[in-house]
Amino acid sequence: MFLSGRTALVTGASRGIGRAIAVELAKAGANVVINYAGQEKAAKETAELVKEHGVKALVIQADVASFEQVKNMIDQVLDEFKSLEILVNNAGITRDNLIMRMKDEDWDAVINTNLKGVFNCCRAVARVMLKAKKGRIINIASVVGLKGNAGQVNYSASKSGIIGFTRSLAAELGSRNITVNAVAPGFIDTDMTEALSEEIKNKLCEHLPLKRFGKLKEVAGTVVFLCSDAADYITGQVIAVDGGLTSVI
Ligand code: NAP
Repeated sequence: MFLSGRTALVTGASRGIGRAIAVELAKAGANVVINYAGQEKAAKETAELVKEHGVKALVIQADVASFEQVKNMIDQVLDEFKSLEILVNNAGITRDNLIMRMKDEDWDAVINTNLKGVFNCCRAVARVMLKAKKGRIINIASVVGLKGNAGQVNYSASKSGIIGFTRSLAAELGSRNITVNAVAPGFIDTDMTEALSEEIKNKLCEHLPLKRFGKLKEVAGTVVFLCSDAADYITGQVIAVDGGLTSVI
């Protein structure tokens, strides 16, 4: 298996896209660290799914918005696995509202988790990867970071920020054989989109070239590809996994 012997840390891996990424990385042979914020039971379930593929799983609670907690998490990972080759910054939240109704707390929570969280994790992990002279960093952005969406100024600012951050960090770390890329999912079948009625889903799909929502596996597969040797020469890129949404609207 092509990721055998490598260690991958996936933030926000207790459910949704993060869980799918953790499982697909395990299928490819990587040992996986499952980070979560509050849902311990769900995180442990992800760990069981990961272990079914014959690799090791380590569950760590840490708020990515806190550098202190992130640093402790990386120390724990190194104690357990001695190395860390893959970082997937997936943890993310939404606090949607129109700007006139958006509270400071909604702005701060989204920017601190989605954008500062990526900064915190990359800052802590870069030290390890620079020393090892190898590494893969994949940041989960969103099509909303490419196109914008009413009611999501905080979320889209955080996701556009991740894209700029990704390109700049790729330029900083490239000479040490560390690639940094972003994946921008569109409408994906998750808990979040399950709440939408069939009617709304069908309306949204009408505008998509592929006429359907994406599957968790399709986002996770793109992340695994970026971790593979086939992606050795890809860095500073944003790959939209969006059924063609950003190419037509
Ligand atoms: P989700 O189901 O809501 O899961 C969010 C994950 O992030 C959970 O594991 C959660 O942990 C964790 N998390 C939240 N705040 C955290 C913090 N401060 N520190 C550490 N972990 C934290 O999300 P999702 O829909 O799978 O989305 C995953 C990523 O994809 C996000 O970055 C999101 O913006 C992006 N995305 C999603 C879609 C979509 O259609 N769903 C589309 C585009 C982009 P707990 O379970 O412990 O709370």
